[in-house]
Formats: sequence, C-alpha cells, structure tokens
Amino acid sequence: MYNAKAYSASSATSPLGSTKIKRRDLTEHDVQIEILFCGICHSDIHQVRNEWSNVMPTVYPIVPGHEIVGRVINVGSAVTKYKPGDIAAVGCMVDSDGTCPECKTGLEQFCPNMKLTYNSPDKHLGGVTYGGYSDSIVVDERFVLRVPSNLELAGVAPLLCAGITTYSPMRRYGVAKGKKVGVVGLGGLGHMGVKFAHALGAHVTVFTTSPHKKEDALRLGADEVVISSNNDTMQKYIGSFDFILNTASAIHDINIYINLLRRDGNLILVGASPKPLTVSPFSLIMGRHNLSGSMIGGIAETQEMLDFCGKHRIIADVEVIPIQKVNEAYERMIKSDVKYRFSIDMATLKSE
Ligand SMILES: [Zn+2]
Ligand SMILES: [Zn+2]
Repeated sequence: MYNAKAYSASSATSPLGSTKIKRRDLTEHDVQIEILFCGICHSDIHQVRNEWSNVMPTVYPIVPGHEIVGRVINVGSAVTKYKPGDIAAVGCMVDSDGTCPECKTGLEQFCPNMKLTYNSPDKHLGGVTYGGYSDSIVVDERFVLRVPSNLELAGVAPLLCAGITTYSPMRRYGVAKGKKVGVVGLGGLGHMGVKFAHALGAHVTVFTTSPHKKEDALRLGADEVVISSNNDTMQKYIGSFDFILNTASAIHDINIYINLLRRDGNLILVGASPKPLTVSPFSLIMGRHNLSGSMIGGIAETQEMLDFCGKHRIIADVEVIPIQKVNEAYERMIKSDVKYRFSIDMATLKSE
C-alpha cells in the first residue's frame, strides 16, 4: 500500500477537500497511472451529495472521478499491454468477473459483479474504490485503455464517460451517412453527441431551449438547431428522425420527441431525469417507435471510441481548472455554466 493525494468529501453536505488515501501495491495484472487530467461528470456531483441514495448510497469519504487520463508509471509482472511512459485512460469501471454472459459479449458495464471506479466495494483493500480526483490510481490492465497520441489530453478525459455514453447508442442503432439524428440538450453529453453524429456522417439537428446555444451547436457540427419551446417549429419535424439522443435531465414532455421519430425510429435516454417521465402509449404505437436507454459502453467499445476520436480528431470542449476550484465548478455545472465539461489539471494537486 502507498499513500496517494486526493480530494474527497466526508459527507453529503461537505465540500471536497484535500486528503490522503491508500492505493494498493501492484498485483501482477495491475497498471499504476499518474493521473494528468480528470473530467467532472454530473454523476460525481450526484454521488458526492448522495442524491442517488436509493440506487447506490454513497460511502464516505468519497473520492469521485471516472474520466481519467494519465501516464503509466509502473506495471505488474504479467502486464503485456502497457509499459511505463504510455498514455492511458480509465473510465467508469475498474473490475468485472470476466466470466458471465455480459462480460463474454464485451458488455462489462452490465456484469452483476462490475465494480465502479469509485464508491464500489474494493476487493483489494476493503472499503470502497476511490476515483480520479487523485494523483494516481492502480487498475487491472483489462480496464485500462490506450489513448491516441494526436489528442490533447485535457479534452480526452471526458471521452471516458460523456464520450462513450453518446458514442455507444449511436453505433448500436446504426447512425451513419443518410440518417437523420436529433440531439436533445447541448451540455456535456449533448455536445459529444453532436460531434459523434456529425463525424459518423449523419444529418444532425440539435434541440435546445437556449437560443444563445445556436452558434455553438453549428460550430460543433450540427446542421440545424431547433428551439424546442417553439411549438410551430417542432411540428415541422414530426416523423422525421431515425435516431434521437435525449440528454436532457430535467423533467420534460418526452412524447414530443417520440413523435419526431420516423417509423421504427429510436429515442435513447442517456440523461437521467430524477422523476418518472410520462409516456403516451399512442406516441409509441403510432409509428412503432422505440424508447430505450443506454449506459456507457463495454471496454472494447470504449477503446473503439477512443480510436475513432484519434482518427477524426475529436475531443471534448473543456475548461481546464485546478483541483482547488472543484467546489466552484460543481456550482457552475448545476447552473449549466460550462462549455462543455470541466477537466481538472491534476498537477495542481501537487501543491496540496
Ligand atoms: Zn460520468
Ligand atoms: Zn461479468
């Protein structure tokens, strides 16, 4: 075991602050990574504040962070995929059983024994796993990813959650040239959705309630921007989309978007509304529309996404902050005051 520097919260109402945590000594399959950047995901805020207490109660202290990119500093004796000096990444998962049907089909995120990067039971040290708001992490090589060498690392970090969350359903439902794609909401997830749909060759329409986001949406790759509060404009799009990615997490009328689908079109939820959404059976029946959800992606698909990003030069739009500004960043994220993701420069943890 060794001591690592980290930022943690000690209760649902305390701010994040500097601390020391234990990391395990390397087993033969482990990779030790010096963390260079860690993105801030909305899940971090929800879990730091124990807002998902009925699904996954937070164990304190919590060290959040599952959008990790860094440099390999040490590897276990059996590690073959990585060597010291490699740039590597870690996303939302750090372990799974590797034997169940989900793991065998590359869908580790649905493994009943999957372990999250933070706030999951830690089989090595007891307690819970600690995430990326830290100077280093030790992870089994099966859950470590390669980072293309042509990408700026601060913007790579958010790909590990916001990126794969939006890329995976697009690949699954065949987003490609000739398809019409809608993206609801232009935040951390939405802005990645626009970039991917555009790079995959689709015609992209962004739905937003904020007229001031129009210019940015076009810059990110949208072909059209629709102000969703304008009913007359929305009517014109009924029955026209093959695929809609819904990233909105506030409560809203989802039937409006289901009705925008073509026959057999797919509306995918990746934004998690805290309250149930009301679905009219007619909006599904008429047009044989599909409504479903999606959760990150498996390890192989996450690697595919990173390689795709290297090929198409895609990174997240980030505002880089020192770790000392993390509490302020949380408040700004709650007000949607970030374009479009915060990325923590972990070198700033050295002065703590
Ligand atoms: Zn996340
Ligand atoms: Zn499994």
